[in-house]
Amino acid sequence: MTGRTTQHLCNRIAIAFDFDDTLAPDTFASLIGDLGYDIEKFKAEKYEPLKKNGWDGIPARFFTLLEGARDQADNEKRLTRSYLKRYGEQLQLFSGVAEMFDKLRQRVQAIDPNLVLEFYIISSGFADIVKSTSIAHQFKAIWGCDLHFGEDGEAVCLKHTVTHPDKVRYLYYLSRGIESHSEDDLMFVYQDVPHSELYIPLDQVIYVGDGTSDLPCFRLINQHKGIPIAVFPDGSAREWARKYDVSASQRVMALVEADYSDNSLLMQTLGLAVESMAKKIRIQQLGDRVLEDAKDGV
Ligand SMILES: [Mg+2]
Repeated sequence: MTGRTTQHLCNRIAIAFDFDDTLAPDTFASLIGDLGYDIEKFKAEKYEPLKKNGWDGIPARFFTLLEGARDQADNEKRLTRSYLKRYGEQLQLFSGVAEMFDKLRQRVQAIDPNLVLEFYIISSGFADIVKSTSIAHQFKAIWGCDLHFGEDGEAVCLKHTVTHPDKVRYLYYLSRGIESHSEDDLMFVYQDVPHSELYIPLDQVIYVGDGTSDLPCFRLINQHKGIPIAVFPDGSAREWARKYDVSASQRVMALVEADYSDNSLLMQTLGLAVESMAKKIRIQQLGDRVLEDAKDGV
């Protein structure tokens, strides 16, 4: 027998999550609140003027937050490594998030114990906060904006940003099995890689996000026949649909409330999504077994 009849088999499935407003409330807004500011007033008076002056959103968020923290009389509220760590440790996640990982792994392993379900974060928010949360250990990689801290531990500047279009790059990282940022990897990231050499093909990736920052990822996942899922905060489905007049390529397979508790629509959706991918892999495994038997002359 020559050549290959069945598709290449990869036993990994991935769920890549956005973070802010997907797994937890928006951390920029809640940090401003923690510093004692009224969120809307702070945005209108400090953040929006920078945007009007040509600033990009991500450095504008960092700069205004840093300035806001420096104006605090309370030294405990300076934007330091330890403050962000404490903040992440105490961050309230959406309902059911902490229990979600094992439940979804069990759904996959009930179909085949050899299948592996991996989780990733691709966020334009501050990775330092996500890395301090109680669920950090669940993720194979956490990609987000990184801060540079001075010798006194206070944040000085952004050393790495993940813009909204950049998020797509990390889906390529995921599919190629690259875990850390490196400009050296860029050639490899954008090269055509044969399906058989991918760490996880994108048709075995589910992407979960809540808004405009996720539209480029929804598009890429759609192109590759993965499963894009949009979530919205409590009771704002109509607002989501009105706010995001998305083109066909950016449309999602499901739009559900960001509630990860037992039997919620989102958990049902995620469960079915991972099971459908697991079953597809099982079909390929059975096909491969037939070929192996044929080779052995059985
Ligand atoms: Mg978000």
